Amino acid sequence: MQADLAAQFKGNRQAEKAQDILRACVHCGFCAAACPTYQLTGDELDGPRGRIYLIKQMLQTGEVSLPTQSHLDRCLTCGACEPACPSGVRYRSLLEIGRSMVEQRVPRSWRDRLARQFMLKVVSHAKRFAAAVKLGRAVGRALPLRIRERLPAASGKIDIRQTNHPRRMLALQGCVQPTAAPQTNAAAARVLDWLGISLVEKPEAGCCGAISLHLAASDQARAHARRNIDAWWPEIEAGVEAIVITASGCGLMVREYAGLLQDDPVYAEKAARVSALTRDLAQVLAAENLDDFAGIGQGLRIAFQCPCTLQHGHGLDGVVEGILRRCGYVTTHIPDSQQCCGSAGTYSILQPEMAERLLERKLTAVMSGQPQLIASANIGCQMHLATRAQLPVKHWIELLNQ
Ligand code: SF4
Ligand code: SF4
Repeated sequence: MQADLAAQFKGNRQAEKAQDILRACVHCGFCAAACPTYQLTGDELDGPRGRIYLIKQMLQTGEVSLPTQSHLDRCLTCGACEPACPSGVRYRSLLEIGRSMVEQRVPRSWRDRLARQFMLKVVSHAKRFAAAVKLGRAVGRALPLRIRERLPAASGKIDIRQTNHPRRMLALQGCVQPTAAPQTNAAAARVLDWLGISLVEKPEAGCCGAISLHLAASDQARAHARRNIDAWWPEIEAGVEAIVITASGCGLMVREYAGLLQDDPVYAEKAARVSALTRDLAQVLAAENLDDFAGIGQGLRIAFQCPCTLQHGHGLDGVVEGILRRCGYVTTHIPDSQQCCGSAGTYSILQPEMAERLLERKLTAVMSGQPQLIASANIGCQMHLATRAQLPVKHWIELLNQ
């Protein structure tokens, strides 16, 4: 697909990058079948090819409208379309550029602005998010139902176990997880401790930056990335083996620091090192001897919902299921397991109707295998599934922490 840039975009690095990505698209439409939003609405413009076309139009004419913004907003950034594309179009990179250009040109309603500012200024800061959750619990019924049902259950702070093994790995606490599921990193630390690995958290690190990037606030995303790099750097220089991330969405974001900071003369090299060291927890565990964990599952039936970021982003489809089976769990079949659950970062808050329909489909698929427990690998999916699931929803590492 060829796009001649409008005069206003000539020399614009982002526009030129988008133009390069667009060239690979041959407009075949193979990607549409993989797209959950296209399946829901049946509208070509809610599928990858349609969105690519809208971005191309903007680049060529310099004009952009509210409907374009809405169709781009409705993308989950789940990445399911990328493996389906025979031409290797880097759709998510293109969307990120498209969204940020649209954001600068199409004003949003005050309601939309407020919701986005809440995400950027509160949710993506661990302490502020913890305070907001506390306040939310206190005012309870005064909150709209869709916010109320997403408030995580009260749980105290859990510090991870401090150990001193020769093998050391860094962990990211993130922004939402320390309040919503502090048991996740604690469980990872205990399991790794058993395997002779110390997990180290740096309190100066925080949100990975994914929320900001999804909301087209790329400068804020870069600021989060730089702060995390600074927090981790002394440990990296001291020789940590890996940066292990328990939330697959955050891990994917940290792996993308290299690209995010490639033009930053101070941080580009460090960002590349951080990205290269980053592993999802499943990658780390899959490479270890898990004989001590064999049989702990005692045949419990687990539906593992593989987050989009784990399967389409990290390319680790099937890895967690393999670990759980090695530990004596039975993993149940989930039809259409490549389809997003509707959580998608901030999506379940900003696009509640679409998110709810996707969740309903996902839970029907999950329950068809008659599991006894649902597991996930990403805090956002875990919280979203828990709003409607009839079974407990846990991070899979909790199943090994016994
Ligand atoms: S990222 Fe997901 S929702 Fe967005 S176009 Fe691709 S498949 Fe559709
Ligand atoms: S499958 Fe790839 S090449 Fe074909 S329309 Fe979709 S993005 Fe373009």
